[in-house]
Amino acid sequence: MAKEIFAIFGNPVSHSKSPLMHNLAFAGLNYDACYTRHLLEDGQRLKETFFNLGLKGVNVTVPHKEAAFHACDVLDPFAQKIGVVNTIVERDGLLYGYNTDAPGFLKAIAEFKEIKTVLFLGAGGTAQSTSSILREEGYKVTLLNRSEGRLDKYKADGFETYTFETFKSQTYDLVINMTSAGLEDDLLPAPKKILDSVIPHAKACVDVIYGKETPFLKLAKHYHKPTKDGSDMLLYQGVIAFEHFSNYRYTFNQIKPYMQKAFDFN
Ligand code: NDP
Repeated sequence: MAKEIFAIFGNPVSHSKSPLMHNLAFAGLNYDACYTRHLLEDGQRLKETFFNLGLKGVNVTVPHKEAAFHACDVLDPFAQKIGVVNTIVERDGLLYGYNTDAPGFLKAIAEFKEIKTVLFLGAGGTAQSTSSILREEGYKVTLLNRSEGRLDKYKADGFETYTFETFKSQTYDLVINMTSAGLEDDLLPAPKKILDSVIPHAKACVDVIYGKETPFLKLAKHYHKPTKDGSDMLLYQGVIAFEHFSNYRYTFNQIKPYMQKAFDFN
């Protein structure tokens, strides 16, 4: 059997940890495959590029997750529902699409117990799949976003939504930074006055940004809250993608320790 080749498609893609994560798991599990990265500029050419490169599967990152949804022949029910795909596997010439970001995120926050209400700071692409899965699991999700435009689809979908101007402070068990504030700057994701009104009442605070302590996490620590960054979310979406890539030959717990080694590198 020919060696299976996998890749990540995105733009930009040079920063991605996915090749390291998946190649460590392939090596550790003696799975005859390799994983590379491909700068995909035009999402419309995703399917054509996939087959031209002779790939068995891909992960798809910003800005092509919706294009990936449209490129698939078969969608799993959750990906179908949210319209966002980050993992594609080829089987018998057909492209099967999955979303592993959302279940990865769900697993990452599972350590926080007795959580019923969740405040999302931000309403971008990452919030879309994660808010949907949290609601399916019975959490009450409220979204607070800097600008109004992105909130429209959430409002239409029945979520409670606020801008900074309309926000009325309530108690939320979990407060999550879903924005890119703090990624390449030192900004908080919302005015400090708002954060000072919600963080002290929260049981825990989570940031989807990984590899650094953001101003948001620093503030949460100032209030002595349990915190976690986005590393586990990244790891778990990768482990779940690997389960699909390997056609479920390995379990989550078999894959995880090898992939986790990628986080020992900087
Ligand atoms: P999008 O570009 O789709 O959305 C960005 C969101 O951040 C919007 O709600 C935007 O608000 C808000 N925002 C940006 N800058 C600020 C700011 N200075 N103050 C307040 N709000 C701000 O991004 P994604 O959803 O794709 O990504 C969001 C974050 O998630 C990123 O930091 C990314 O690195 C991280 N991520 C982590 C993953 C992981 O595995 N750990 C996986 C995927 C993403 P507005 O609508 O007003 O512009």
